[in-house]
Amino acid sequence: MTLRSRFTLFTVFWLIFILILYNIFVYFFVIRVTTRGEEQLLMNKADLVIESLRKRGMQGFDDPKLLSDLYNYNEMMRIVTSDLRIVNQIGTDKELLSIPPQMQVYNLSETQQINGQRVLYLSMPFFDQGKLVGTVEAARRLTVLDSYLQILVGALSVTSIGAIVFAIFGTYWFTSRLTGPIGQMVQTMREIDRSGKLYRVKLNGREESVELQQMVRAFNQMIDRLDRTIESQKHFVADASHELKTPLTVISSYADMLKRWGRDNAEVRDEAIEAIAKETERLQNLIRSMLTLAEAEQDNWLNVTRFDVNGVVRELSEVLGKTFKRNIRVHSDNHSVFMRGDKEKIRQLLLILIDNAIKYSKEPIDVRIRNQKNGIKLEVTDYGIGIPENEIPNMFQRFYRIDEARHRSTGGSGLGLSIAKKIIDVHEGNVEVYSKPGNGTTISIQLPRKI
Ligand code: ATP
Ligand code: MG
Repeated sequence: MTLRSRFTLFTVFWLIFILILYNIFVYFFVIRVTTRGEEQLLMNKADLVIESLRKRGMQGFDDPKLLSDLYNYNEMMRIVTSDLRIVNQIGTDKELLSIPPQMQVYNLSETQQINGQRVLYLSMPFFDQGKLVGTVEAARRLTVLDSYLQILVGALSVTSIGAIVFAIFGTYWFTSRLTGPIGQMVQTMREIDRSGKLYRVKLNGREESVELQQMVRAFNQMIDRLDRTIESQKHFVADASHELKTPLTVISSYADMLKRWGRDNAEVRDEAIEAIAKETERLQNLIRSMLTLAEAEQDNWLNVTRFDVNGVVRELSEVLGKTFKRNIRVHSDNHSVFMRGDKEKIRQLLLILIDNAIKYSKEPIDVRIRNQKNGIKLEVTDYGIGIPENEIPNMFQRFYRIDEARHRSTGGSGLGLSIAKKIIDVHEGNVEVYSKPGNGTTISIQLPRKI
C-alpha cells in the first residue's frame, strides 16, 4: 500500500469516527434541550391550573374555563380526581385523549411513542391540606420539534459527507505534495543505479516542510561526499600509477643497459645494479605505504592496548639515531606516560615524523612527550629547512611533496604524512605544524588518553 493511500485511509477513518461521535452527541443534546423547554411549558400550564383551583378553594373541577384558557391545538389537558375519574378534559386529538390517566404523589413527565410519533406526557398531583385530591394531566405532540430534528439530521449528514469527501481529496492532494520529493528521490536513485553517475535531487522551492527539505539536503550531501570520495580515489589511482611508473622506467632502462653493456663494462654494471636496488627499495616503500593507506580504510584497523608512550619514543629514537647516525633527544617530565591506543600505529606515526625530521634537517632532533590534563602531547622538532607557510595546509595530502627536487634527492613518496594524519584521526587526535623556512619545523600532536 502506498504511503499516500495509507495516509488518506487513516485520516478518513479517524474523521468518520470523530464525526459519528460528534453527530450522536449533537443529536441527543438538541433533543434533550428542546424537550426540556416543552416540558417546562406544560409544567407552567399545570401550575396555573392548580393555582386557579386553589383560589376557588378546590371547588368546581369541571369548569371548562379552567382549561380552555391555556389549551393549545396540539395538546390535551385534563383534571383527574384521586379515584382516577376524568372530571374535566379538553383536546381534539383522539390518540392523546386515549392515554390512560395515572395517579401518583410526585410530578411525572415522560416522552411516549404513539404510532411512531413522540408525545410528551405530564402528570402533576395537587393536594388539599396534605391530602391528595387529584392530578392535572397534560400531553403534547412533539411534531414540530421532530421536524426540526429531521432538518438537523439532514444538515449533519450533508456536512459530514462533505467533510469526508473534502478530507479524501484534501489528504490525497496533501500527501501527493508530501511524497513528491520522495518519489523524486527514488527516481534519482534509480537513475544513479542505471547510469552509474551521481545525480542530485533538485528542490523546486515549493516544498515547505522542513523535514523533507532536510531529507533532500542530506541526500544531496551524501551524493556530494560520494562524489568527492570517488574523485579523490580517481586522483589517487592516477597519482599512484604515475608514482609507480617512474621507478619502473628507471629499472627497465638500467636493465636494458645491463643487457647490452653489463657483461663487459664493470662500471656500467655496478651503476646499474646500484640504481636498480635503489629504485626497487623506493618501489617497495611506495607499495608498503599504499597498502597501509588501503588498510586504514577498514573498520578494524586498530588494535587497541594500554602502553607506555615514553617507552615507544625512547626505543624508536635510539634505533633511528643509531641507524642514521643522528642525535635524537627525548624530553619527558615523567618516567612513563600511559595511553590506550594502537601501539604499533603510534610507533609508525612517530617513525614518519622523525624520518621527516632526519631527512629535512642536519641538526639534532628534539622529541617531547607531555602528559597534559586533557591528553598526551607529542612534539617532534627539527632545525632544518622548514616549510613555507602556504604549503602547510597541503602537506598532509597524499603524494604531496613541497618540491620535486627535494623529493628526488631524499627519495620520499609523499605518503608519509597522509598516513600520519590517518593515524591521528583514528585516535581522535589533533595535529598542528609550526614551521619557519630555514629555521626548522615542529609537528605537535595532541592525543586523548584513551579512545
Ligand atoms: P615519505 O615520507 O612517504 O617517504 P615524504 O617525506 O616526501 O615521503 P611526507 O612525509 O608526506 O612525504 O611529507 C610531505 C612533504 O612535506 C615532504 O615531501 C616535505 O617536502 C615536507 N615535509 C614534511 N616534513 C618536513 C620537515 N620536518 N621539514 C621540512 N619539510 C617537511
Ligand atoms: Mg616523510
